[in-house]
Amino acid sequence: MDRQQEFILRSIEERDIRFIRLWFTDILGSLKSVAIAPAELEGAFAEGIGFDGSAIEGLARVHEADMLAKPDPATFQVLPWRGESQGTARMFCDILTPSGEPAMMDPRNVLKRALNGAAEHGLSFYTHPEIEFYLFKEPTTEGQEPEPVDQAGYFDHVARGTTHDFRRAAIGVLESMGISVEFSHHEAGPGQNEIDLRYADALTMADNIMTFRTVIKEVALEQGLYASFMPKPLSAHPGSGMHTHFSLFEGDQNAFHEAGAEYQLSKIGRQFIAGLLKHAAEITAVTNQWVNSYKRIWGGAEAPAYVCWGHNNRSALIRVPMYKPGKGQSTRVEYRGLDTATNPYLAFALMLNAGLKGIEEGLELPDGADDNVWSLTEGERRAMGITRLPSSLGQAIQVMEDSELVAQTLGEGVFDFFLRNKRAEWDEYRSQVTPFELKRYLPLL
Ligand code: GLU
Ligand code: MG
Ligand code: MG
Repeated sequence: MDRQQEFILRSIEERDIRFIRLWFTDILGSLKSVAIAPAELEGAFAEGIGFDGSAIEGLARVHEADMLAKPDPATFQVLPWRGESQGTARMFCDILTPSGEPAMMDPRNVLKRALNGAAEHGLSFYTHPEIEFYLFKEPTTEGQEPEPVDQAGYFDHVARGTTHDFRRAAIGVLESMGISVEFSHHEAGPGQNEIDLRYADALTMADNIMTFRTVIKEVALEQGLYASFMPKPLSAHPGSGMHTHFSLFEGDQNAFHEAGAEYQLSKIGRQFIAGLLKHAAEITAVTNQWVNSYKRIWGGAEAPAYVCWGHNNRSALIRVPMYKPGKGQSTRVEYRGLDTATNPYLAFALMLNAGLKGIEEGLELPDGADDNVWSLTEGERRAMGITRLPSSLGQAIQVMEDSELVAQTLGEGVFDFFLRNKRAEWDEYRSQVTPFELKRYLPLL
């Protein structure tokens, strides 16, 4: 046992922790949890805890069902909502095969592989997400639009408002778990909120996002509300995105920064964006993985629909935000495609590798789009070389199928499972006759 592991065992005793939850994530981004008694922890650190991998979405095939979950001591945190005494703590796990190899189907391992690839070039990847979600009144009714908790809009300060108190409570919990919050505010939709997490390396951030989703759901439950990360829950209001800012660091230097360059953006930064633009359509099935995701990104409400980049252009897929004078380290790129219901491990791995490909191939960055790309005509967009993001899950799957980049980054097993699972979702959806069709066509035809 190393010192960190010993420290954890000691604090478990001192703090009267009775349950240790081992957390990991399946391929579609659902959090999985198994609780162990403190006495099991030493063994878990040494060898991992065995479980039936075939029962977890995409993790293992039935004939290779045995898997091990091995806790990462760096992620130890007490769960504040489980009370002071007889407390509960959690750690994220790496999934291993019975022979102790990292499991190819573990999304955390997919991201680690991508980060190791960058590390071979001396680069590390930092991210900072703007996470949007809705708060609805309980109870919600199956199949019906939920009722938002308020009618407020962007940056509104609602005196003694529900979302105000909610954000305060949620941020308190997040910070007590070591997750720093940079901003929070009411978003544009009724009952819609945004909480932005402070920069962290991409692996820590993916873990933080998984914790964030759980915390938001827990705090909402406590307050008698329903929190949802559905990409587009209300037809008439904006969807919930997870715009993600990121930069590459070389040692302690921001590799995206070059003093005096346009937007202070270095050549590496430009090539990285070029790579992301080139592969954006291919990674969309992962960054926007649900049938419903495409209702958010079809054009409008500050969600991107076209593959282009800009500076002050909020319709662009990629934006280079305003540079803060004197803060060279803050040069960063914002990818606006992601929604809040993506698997953050897979999405970050793909964004990183798409960008690195741009550097590797020395890609030229096309001109930025300054206009609002939604107001251009199809012909104008074509003349500027601006293509569309896939406009349905079906289309996104088709583009992903031919992507070498996605196959390599995810690994064959995850790639195949993901495509199979998403094809089934798409087929099920498109075989439905929807309320829209019945209402529209039955009286007419
Ligand atoms: N809700 C918008 C989206 O889905 C983002 C709004 C904003 O710019 O923060 O992408
Ligand atoms: Mg926002
Ligand atoms: Mg943004």
